[in-house]
Amino acid sequence: MVSEFCFGALPLGPLQANLSLQNSAKLMRQAFELGINFFDTAEMYKTQGYIGEAFKGADRDQVVIATKSMASDYKAMQASVEQSLRELKRDYIDIYHLHAARVGGEVFAERAGALECLLDYKQKGYVRAVGISTHSVTATCAAAEQDEIDIVFPIINKMGMGIINGTRAEMEAAIAKAAQAGKGVYAMKVLAGGHLIEEAVAAINYVRALPGMVSLAVGVVKEEELKYDYRIFSGQITMDGQEQSPRRTSKQLLISQFCKGCGQCVEACPNGALRVEESKARVDHGLCLQCGYCSPACPEFAIRLI
Ligand code: SF4
Ligand code: SF4
Repeated sequence: MVSEFCFGALPLGPLQANLSLQNSAKLMRQAFELGINFFDTAEMYKTQGYIGEAFKGADRDQVVIATKSMASDYKAMQASVEQSLRELKRDYIDIYHLHAARVGGEVFAERAGALECLLDYKQKGYVRAVGISTHSVTATCAAAEQDEIDIVFPIINKMGMGIINGTRAEMEAAIAKAAQAGKGVYAMKVLAGGHLIEEAVAAINYVRALPGMVSLAVGVVKEEELKYDYRIFSGQITMDGQEQSPRRTSKQLLISQFCKGCGQCVEACPNGALRVEESKARVDHGLCLQCGYCSPACPEFAIRLI
């Protein structure tokens, strides 16, 4: 049983706001005290330790934690799960996803070793549910038909931004199909990486109303954001403009002069927002979801989200 408001832990960490361990843990404790019991992270986000710190006490079993790994074979996934157990300070992990943003329905064959590893850990009781996080309509459809998959974590937002291998309407249908097949479905990027901040109420309520949707992961880095979003989920804010959003709208990805044009960031971007032109990386701000995935991929430390 999870709260409809899932605390997205990506923005707390070094890919985005880079809050301290203590401040992050305090914010997550505040969320828990508001009744939020669902926390989403990933090996790549480098915030598993933040959740471990927040819930190392007696009530750690009262929270539901989802994490994910990009591992593609058995051994690499084994290392990821062991690291997650250590960092989260838990004997088990509630949901473990194949972290698989830009892939199609073939993901389960391509990463069969990683999936087998998660199923082994589930059988031994270290993982309670196995899932996939994806931007892809075809992967969401394939997950609906995959018996071993318990949870699906697709991208969906009012703009249809970031969805691959299909349209927003097709993703809505894929979500309904997954839910009908008995999968637990929760959504990512409901604010489209910040593009929907000005219409957050409509954006959140659009996803809440989708048939089969259980929960929405929303990234939070400040107490004011937590309380604002909580008030949307609890029906105290019912329309945009009723209260001013505490989020900044001016966050942007910057590429510095130190860029050498190597293209590694282009490979790391799950949204096709980067390209190399005249030996320099260029960003299409209309496609950028401000996830921060590209930043650690740059050997020149040339990418910053500010
Ligand atoms: S990874 Fe860094 S150096 Fe390479 S193209 Fe991207 S921004 Fe430039
Ligand atoms: S350019 Fe970087 S921050 Fe923007 S969507 Fe791609 S990986 Fe994410």
